[in-house]
Amino acid sequence: MIVTKIFKGLTMLKIRWIEKKWSMCGPLDALVKSRALAPCTSDIHTVWEGTIGERHNLVLGHEGVGEVVEVGSMVKNFKPRDQVIIPAITPDWNTVEAQGGLAMHSGGMLTCWRFSFFKDGVFGEIFHVTDADDNLAKFPDSIAPAEAAMLSDRVPTSFHTAELADVKLGDTVCWIGIGPVGLMAVAGSNLMGALHFLTVGSRPDSVHAAKGYGATDDIINYKNGDIVEQVMNLTDGKCVDKVCIAGGDVKTIDQAIRMLKPGEKIGNVNYLGSGDYVIVPRVEWGCGMSHKFIHSRLMPGGRLRMEKLANLVEVGKLKLSPLITHRFNGFDKLKEALFLMKEKPAALIKPVVII
Ligand code: NDP
Ligand code: ZN
Repeated sequence: MIVTKIFKGLTMLKIRWIEKKWSMCGPLDALVKSRALAPCTSDIHTVWEGTIGERHNLVLGHEGVGEVVEVGSMVKNFKPRDQVIIPAITPDWNTVEAQGGLAMHSGGMLTCWRFSFFKDGVFGEIFHVTDADDNLAKFPDSIAPAEAAMLSDRVPTSFHTAELADVKLGDTVCWIGIGPVGLMAVAGSNLMGALHFLTVGSRPDSVHAAKGYGATDDIINYKNGDIVEQVMNLTDGKCVDKVCIAGGDVKTIDQAIRMLKPGEKIGNVNYLGSGDYVIVPRVEWGCGMSHKFIHSRLMPGGRLRMEKLANLVEVGKLKLSPLITHRFNGFDKLKEALFLMKEKPAALIKPVVII
């Protein structure tokens, strides 16, 4: 085996470059050479916040695209030189949990969020992917690698927020958080037929991008006072049909319940990186009888999902370039891109490193 240069997340607050051997390619696996990599807010939670789980000696990163360099003897649908999206979540598809529709938790809660949690992540020159036939997804030449890297986690997670909230034609939806995940939730909800958009964020560039993805003019700045009050003012006290959460903290579910109509749904993909408890307000939750549902999930992953989303990009129904505000060239720029994601300057939406 060859040794390669990788970016290593050692433990919280400690990251450094190392040389490390990559894993052997098993019969169902693939080895992939990175072509575009993107730091994620979840990497920031992992390294600098109170993330769950122990991590030792692990390569960081879970968003990227690459070129297949080797496949196992039982892999049928991929071969060396294929350009592939690597989904952030890589389930075991041959499990009872997968049969029950929860492949992402095959073998235990969150276990298929493998990269930089249970196995080396994608911030390596070469990385290993399990169950290649079901987890990798091809993307066409018409999508540039930097844009395709957004299909690894940004788009599938964000669209999942809208799916979890069950956005329907004509809905009034509040989006809490319009970072790169929230922006794609806006785009997804727009494609699903939402009518009235109440969008919570503060950075002007994100607000501008949200409007580009279909948000209407009702922008709520959470730094200018209680967002529930602002939603009530904008809806004449009528509440909203759906809430999509891709930002905030442990208090956000409380706020979402307060602004939601009875019988309706909250979709949450926000990663609660700190705090001990999520609060559900008793009275606004109808003393337990409101039929207000909180749907909160890890992104599902899977080849079918990724390839369908890539098709939306290919036909021009979804544009990904407005998400990428910072482009870097060369593997060595990963550290700079990661710190940019941590510091989140006003003009940042998403950085990508093209290898
Ligand atoms: P960003 O940090 O870029 O965006 C967060 C958004 O939330 C910004 O618009 C920010 O506003 C807003 N925000 C911050 N604090 C508050 C608050 N108190 N109230 C309301 N809004 C607030 O994150 P990303 O878009 O990259 O990611 C969003 C979340 O999704 C992260 O927690 C990430 O870890 C998680 N995630 C979850 C996945 C899953 O499968 N469930 C997968 C991938 C990511 P502004 O910056 O404008 O001030
Ligand atoms: Zn991510």
